[in-house]
Amino acid sequence: MKIPWFIIGNGSNILFSDDGFHGLVIKLVGNFMRVNINNNSIIAGSGVLLPSLSRHCLANCWSGFEFMCGIPGTIGGAVRMNAGTKQGEIKDHFVSATVLTHDGAIKNLSKEDMQFSYRHSILAKTRDILLSATFAKHKVAPKEDIQKTIKEIIASRRQKQPRIKRNCGSVFKSPPGNKPAGWYIEQVGLKGFRVGDAMISYEHANWIVNLGNAKAYDVKSIISYVEYIVLQKFNVCLEREVLYIPEDL
Ligand SMILES: Cc1cc2nc3c(=O)[nH]c(=O)nc-3n(C[C@H](O)[C@H](O)[C@H](O)COP(=O)(O)OP(=O)(O)OC[C@H]3O[C@@H](n4cnc5c(N)ncnc54)[C@H](O)[C@@H]3O)c2cc1C
Repeated sequence: MKIPWFIIGNGSNILFSDDGFHGLVIKLVGNFMRVNINNNSIIAGSGVLLPSLSRHCLANCWSGFEFMCGIPGTIGGAVRMNAGTKQGEIKDHFVSATVLTHDGAIKNLSKEDMQFSYRHSILAKTRDILLSATFAKHKVAPKEDIQKTIKEIIASRRQKQPRIKRNCGSVFKSPPGNKPAGWYIEQVGLKGFRVGDAMISYEHANWIVNLGNAKAYDVKSIISYVEYIVLQKFNVCLEREVLYIPEDL
């Protein structure tokens, strides 16, 4: 019998259906949470959290990994999504990855193999399971400088992000052009728009917060409405960043 399966990282970019997922949800922990650092590279297991990798790099005075400090995802999810911020993306430091393929083979993938683009990698298509990833050292800097950058990033995120913690981060990808998705949502007056207990955040229009008992259905209804209104008013097609499970499998 074939059992549907799904690999979860930290679940920070996922909206599960109200009906749940009828199959196996796999989370890689234990040895997959190890980090090995040497002179020029760092190997992180797929379960390692990005803020933890950022701290390892800080301890070794490696600069460039500061952007990871505020992203609540694992290496597995972040490589799959090519997670990033204005300060950097996973692909900038990525060297290679070890994956488990569908037919049970263990394979090494180079940066070219990964076909990284904005919030995308080949893993979305192949559904290979990332076991570990290797990142390179590009730059060393005084620890105090790296620490300062990290503090600034965290302070800035605290200021911009919604105070209500239950959310799934940015809902839409940045559309082509120089305006972020939140700008369009704000322009069409949808800050505070609510379905059930799901609401578009007043602090950041690209975030939907859960006021208590929001259902996936409520969040999806808001997403569909935003897509429709922004298309009508601006002829801009917003693309979802958050993944629906099981629909996006
Ligand atoms: C408060 C908040 C802030 C955020 N800020 C940012 C940000 O600044 N930048 C940004 O890019 N994102 C951001 N996100 C979104 C999210 O954190 C990232 O996309 C993150 O990389 C997802 O990692 P995860 O481990 O939670 O993956 P999940 O959400 O668990 O999974 C995402 C996808 O990755 C796949 N996956 C997970 N592990 C593996 C594996 N081992 N092998 C293969 N596939 C795997 C899953 O199957 C799924 O398809 C934010 C989210 C929140 C809630």
